[in-house]
Formats: sequence, C-alpha cells, structure tokens
Amino acid sequence: MTPQPLPPGERAAAHAWRPARFLVIAAHPDDAEFGPAATAAAWIDAGSTGRLVCCTSGDQGGEDPHADPLVLAATREEEQRRAASIVGYDEVVFLHQPDGALANELPLRELLVREIRRFRPDAVLTHDPEVLFYAGAGVNHTDHRAAGIAAVDAVFPAARNPMAFPSLARAGLVAHVVRRLYLFWPNVPTAWVDVTETLDRKIAALRCHASQVADPDGLEARIRAWTAEEGEPIGVAAAEAFRVIVIDDDPNEGPHGAGAG
Ligand SMILES: [Zn+2]
Repeated sequence: MTPQPLPPGERAAAHAWRPARFLVIAAHPDDAEFGPAATAAAWIDAGSTGRLVCCTSGDQGGEDPHADPLVLAATREEEQRRAASIVGYDEVVFLHQPDGALANELPLRELLVREIRRFRPDAVLTHDPEVLFYAGAGVNHTDHRAAGIAAVDAVFPAARNPMAFPSLARAGLVAHVVRRLYLFWPNVPTAWVDVTETLDRKIAALRCHASQVADPDGLEARIRAWTAEEGEPIGVAAAEAFRVIVIDDDPNEGPHGAGAG
C-alpha cells in the first residue's frame, strides 16, 4: 500500500522496505547527494545494488559567464563519479542532456527507459515532479521538475510496455516492471528513512562537488540541521524524507521487501 501523509503531531515508523535494486534519476551532478545519498548508502550497505543516472552534466552550474561549459561539465562529471564511489553505486550514467533545457519529451523518455530496462530496478528514486514551489521557500528548478516527470513517465507505462520503444526490445532490452517510486524533496513526505549511520557518507559525497560548494563547513551544518529535522517524525537523529508511490504491491512480500533476509 502506498504510504500516506502523516497527520500533524503524529509520529511514523522508520521506512523499512528496501529494494534489492534501485535506480536514482537526477537532473544535475550533486542532486543525488543533496537528495537520497544517505538512503542509497544505507541500502547498499544492507545488500542492495544502486545505480545513478544524471540527465545533465551541470554545464550551466557556475557564476562565470566566460567559463567553458564543456570544461565545467567534465569537472562536474568527475566530481559526481567521486561522490558516487563514496555512496557505493555500481555505475554512474551521464545522459549528456543540456543543463537548463531539460524537457520531458520522447527522446529523454527513451534514454531513461533504456537505462531502466538495462539495470532492471525494483524502485526508481527521482525528483518529486509536482513540486513547483517548495513549501519552505523557493522555486524548484525546471530541470528537476522535467527529470522527475520524465522518470515517472519512463517508469510507467513505457518501461513495462513491451510495445513502447520497440527498437529497445529488438536490442534485447525487454519490458521491465518498476514497482515503486521514491520522490525526493517532496512538499508532502510519506516515508522517512533512518540515515543516522550513513549521514557522514552523504556529507563526504557532497564535499566532492567542490565546484558547487563555496562553504563546505556551512553546507555540512545545513545538511545536519536538515536531516535532523527530517528525523523528527520518526524519532531518529537523521532521516531523508520521500513521497513513496507503490505501483505494484506484492502480497507475498514481508515488510522489508526484496532484500529481506
Ligand atoms: Zn539540481
């Protein structure tokens, strides 16, 4: 069953289901670290296999209008690879889409379906595409929204539809059912993963993005405060919050999912 929002003042249990295989789909290098990195590290430590797809290489992520976007993209890919190795992903895939111009169109959907069918994850973690304005303050970047909705549309129905993108099936990438979506940075979270044990890895991975982080110590303090706040609903020192969409429930499955012992 899809988890529901928590009524005000109530506490939830820490989210216990764990996918055996999960794919993180992010718009930019560093999104996956600000997003679900500590959850990914915790799941990988517990035996899951995780992979990261970056739709863009962040070639507009700077303050200098004279900077060479290709040089910046190469720097950011290297930073992302280092961060990913700290988290423990088995692979990082860059789709090399244009930063600032990501669009939920068929070519991007096909690229994402290709990666889903290649890796065959139980769960996909991506940006909550319904967040236009953050509840706290601020506008959600257009690339985050586009990556999120493209990932949702790739998961359902395209990746599982044998007749969608027939050239992929002809290349051996047959239809695959992703059973759950974990949407990060939600305005209305429904699940909280205890990341007390892996918060330091999230922070170490964030520090790899040196081109984006002017004040690493200040960032660390903000991340610790943020994850502490997200830990409050489940009474732990640190958590990451998600809006979880269960597309296919397995009635034979225990509370800990495919990875349960
Ligand atoms: Zn971003």
